Amino acid sequence: MIYVVSACLAGVACRFDGEANPREGVIELVRQGLALPVCPEQLGGLPTPRPPCELRDGQVLCREADGTLSDATDAFAKGAEEGVRLALLAGCTEAILKARSPSCGCGRIYDGTFTRTLVAGDGLFAAALRAAGITVRCDE
Ligand code: SF4
Repeated sequence: MIYVVSACLAGVACRFDGEANPREGVIELVRQGLALPVCPEQLGGLPTPRPPCELRDGQVLCREADGTLSDATDAFAKGAEEGVRLALLAGCTEAILKARSPSCGCGRIYDGTFTRTLVAGDGLFAAALRAAGITVRCDE
């Protein structure tokens, strides 16, 4: 296995809104047995669908249906850790991740204000993969 990939890019309906972000190139890598699909948020025990969440100063904030914010940092951190465990177990050396996600985003993520404002930074899974020595790039 060479690549660990965001499961939503492989067509898995694991996004917060219950949808997927299929990318034919990623799906083809999985078909060829070259890529391992992982959704760190589901691995962290979060439900699908789930509230939209963003990272702010290392804390994961989720906007609940009534507009209040909850803290899901522990679940996101656990999912990132478990995702890295799977990637290393499978021998992955590179990652292809969904842009802008608070887990998978790499280089630029939303700023935690839920105003679709982007700032420099990595999601928790992307950062954990980098720390484990895996080369990370986004789908865009
Ligand atoms: Fe896709 Fe990553 Fe979000 Fe899961 S956590 S839905 S794999 S972007």
